Amino acid sequence: MILKTVEDIAVKGKKVLVRCDFNVPMNDEGVITNDNRIVGALPTIKYLVSEGAKVILCSHMGRPKGEFNMKYSLAPVAVRLSEYLGQTVKMAEDVVGDSAKALTASMADGEVVLLENVRFHAEETKNVPEFSEKLAALAEIFVNDAFGTAHRAHCSTAGVADFLPAVSGYLIQKEIEIMGGALENPQRPFVAILGGAKVKDKIGVINNLLNKVDTIIIGGGMAYTFCKAMGGSIGDSLVDEERLDYARQVLELAKEKGVNIMLPTDNVAADNFADDANQKVCNSKEIPDGWQGLDIGPETIKAFSDVIKNAKTVIWNGPMGVFEFPNFAKGTIAVAEAVAAADAITIIGGGDSAAAVTNLGFADKMTHISTGGGASLEFLEGIELPGVACLGKKKARKTVAAGNWKMNKTPSETKALIAELAPLVADAENTIIVCPTAVCLPAAVEACKGTNILVGAQNMYFEDKGAFTGEISADMLLDLGIKYVILGHSERRQYFAETDETVNKKVLKAFEKGLVPIICVGESLEQREQGITADLVRMQVKIALQGVTAEQAKNVIIAYEPIWAIGTGKTATTEQAQEVCSTIRACICELYGAGVAECVTIQYGGSVNAGNSAELFAQPDIDGGLVGGASLKAADFSVIAHS
Ligand code: AMP
Repeated sequence: MILKTVEDIAVKGKKVLVRCDFNVPMNDEGVITNDNRIVGALPTIKYLVSEGAKVILCSHMGRPKGEFNMKYSLAPVAVRLSEYLGQTVKMAEDVVGDSAKALTASMADGEVVLLENVRFHAEETKNVPEFSEKLAALAEIFVNDAFGTAHRAHCSTAGVADFLPAVSGYLIQKEIEIMGGALENPQRPFVAILGGAKVKDKIGVINNLLNKVDTIIIGGGMAYTFCKAMGGSIGDSLVDEERLDYARQVLELAKEKGVNIMLPTDNVAADNFADDANQKVCNSKEIPDGWQGLDIGPETIKAFSDVIKNAKTVIWNGPMGVFEFPNFAKGTIAVAEAVAAADAITIIGGGDSAAAVTNLGFADKMTHISTGGGASLEFLEGIELPGVACLGKKKARKTVAAGNWKMNKTPSETKALIAELAPLVADAENTIIVCPTAVCLPAAVEACKGTNILVGAQNMYFEDKGAFTGEISADMLLDLGIKYVILGHSERRQYFAETDETVNKKVLKAFEKGLVPIICVGESLEQREQGITADLVRMQVKIALQGVTAEQAKNVIIAYEPIWAIGTGKTATTEQAQEVCSTIRACICELYGAGVAECVTIQYGGSVNAGNSAELFAQPDIDGGLVGGASLKAADFSVIAHS
């Protein structure tokens, strides 16, 4: 399941309450000194405005402690937002009072109102249901786009979802997709870099990441507790005496799990906690009394950087030293450089490391910089965030009805059939694909223009061009504007000697060219009777997907076609079909993780017809069908396309 977003809900003419994070820094004159958070909220707001929603924004600002205090007013945000949006954002004088009610009652489509600071009410942070209800009463839909407060169960971040349909905005969607993807299905080596002052703050993250990463690099103030736990002398460096045992346990556990923990081997120590203190490089286990480690040393920088540069996924939370002092910022800068240079998915947790990366000018070199410090930490700890848990979920995959016309229909018949089918399926929510024979593809593409019917090919060769009489290439399909191609159909395996290895080559070529393969797998009657269906299908899937990346695999369509049920009129029972489709999903989960398995469309094929499609497609692991004979009759295929 993935989050429903603003794009999954009809918002035109609807009042939409959007929780943003407008907690921007302001100087004493009330001037905004950094508007990154306002800019970050714009995509969701602009989308809602362009779709004709009535947009009601809310946020907290600072800590007004439950009282109206204009020092914490969001009024300057309304002014800045108006400039960015090119339209007036009306500022309410209160949150759920007369002003808010009056302004939101009379909104035109596309208009934007900003409520006052939600923390002017003490109920907000206590998640009092009555206050949530009052907030909800202003709107018809709730959108949470404030990742920075998503780890808090407050009225405006979670409570309102008890009273309104709730979806995520683009910011939260991106945070969850990128961080969730990395945790669930990382490209390896997966390296976590943890730093900052306190071990205590990172315990949850360490515990969770020990089950996921290949290497944990520990730097910053927290490293000295580990160095001391290993018997080192750390002088006056920061230490958490109460967590020495914990540090030892982590090192033990890491060994058991085969996780490489890297600690500093040398440090830059200072004789005073000050930027202008005297400094010297010490062995991390021999820091003299009177000296404290404030940065990692040159040998450590090199060792950390080498591992980071070879990583494929990097998550970084916490500086390597007291980077606020320029004389002790070298380690943090070097690590930022290494992360920026890595050919990897690079994720920077919010807070200090995000600030360090941004201030050092590396922001645009990172895959993602989280907008929430506390929230990203809790997410890395594996804790479900209340502001995310309350949002609606949807299936990550589409239901696809694909018609395999096999060697039927001439080009003119193709045109006629599509013309008949198009009006019947215009309102169908499923993805609809027709796959006529190769010579009919141009006619099909032409006939499908302006309809919701897509065109797929029945086969494709794995070479780009050359002496391969009778074959067609991926480029030829692309030239026609075709996106889908059936590969490894059992009839091709049976009559044209197509092997799993050939199918794999074709699948790789399809992905290389940007085509979506519909990969067919399935067992013969004899194989079913031998009881080898599951093993066989798993092997077919594994070979077909050899060399396919996780990102590519998310888009694959797999069609399970029991050969004994193709064109014979025999259908697998719903249970049999579901059982094998679930085996296929489990196999994809083993190969790529649950996140990818959730995205993959798995079709059933084999005498699907207008009478059985609804029941088949209702199964949890059956996401549509690859339909033979029944796709040649417009009325029947329309029923299937609506199933
Ligand atoms: P955190 O909020 O836990 O990520 O910690 C960030 C803070 O840790 C920054 O303000 C750093 O100055 C501080 N810090 C990093 N390394 C050290 C160190 N060796 N000694 C004291 N403080 C440190």
